[in-house]
Amino acid sequence: MPVNALFRDDFYLSTCQAVVTQVHEDGGIELDQTCFYATSGGQPGDTGYLERADGSKILLNPTKHGTDKSVIIHVPTEGQALPNIGETLTLHVDWPRRYKLMRMHTACHLLSVVCPWPITGAAVGEEESRVDFDMSETIDKDEVTAKLMALVEENHPVFLKWITDEELAANPDIVKSKNVRPPLGLGRVSLVCIGENSAVDSQPCGGTHVAETQEVGEIHIAKIEKKGKENRRFRIRFGKPDVSA
Ligand SMILES: [Zn+2]
Repeated sequence: MPVNALFRDDFYLSTCQAVVTQVHEDGGIELDQTCFYATSGGQPGDTGYLERADGSKILLNPTKHGTDKSVIIHVPTEGQALPNIGETLTLHVDWPRRYKLMRMHTACHLLSVVCPWPITGAAVGEEESRVDFDMSETIDKDEVTAKLMALVEENHPVFLKWITDEELAANPDIVKSKNVRPPLGLGRVSLVCIGENSAVDSQPCGGTHVAETQEVGEIHIAKIEKKGKENRRFRIRFGKPDVSA
């Protein structure tokens, strides 16, 4: 039975209750519903713990998908007791970590607005994220930082728009950023929209994002690396630029 992935509709849900539907031989736990994001699209899966009725905790490594995206597996850390099928648990996402990932993930969207080249890869991290662009231009990192911070400070709303796979196929112009492959196959696609009426950006994405750009906070481009003739790797970090670098 496909899991009810509550995080897809509510990025701020840090806790919920769920019933154990399956316990794999290797300890992986499947639940009827979950607020734990599973690793995909460059964003690491949530960590945290499952709380049993007696108050004991099952600590979790990053959550992952199973054979397909309809399966979400909660992975206990080494030596944890395992729950029983049918048992009700209370889920607790490691929220400080997830919130950082949401801020970083949203920052990656803003970077794709400032740098409108095709994206060839991305990885969201708690302290640093990287986005690779298919570009040969040389660009000043401080200039990119200034444009990013302007978008943060303008405090644009960030919201989801759900469209069907068919709607997307029929209206390719809905997607402003042409460089991201839509997460097709779930029957519906979430467009992440930034700005009133998506004025700043809209692109298909299944990750988690903050509700308005000011939540991203202070960020900067720490480095732009040349990775081949037509590839530039941008590294985004939290905080003000390190002037000694
Ligand atoms: Zn996203």
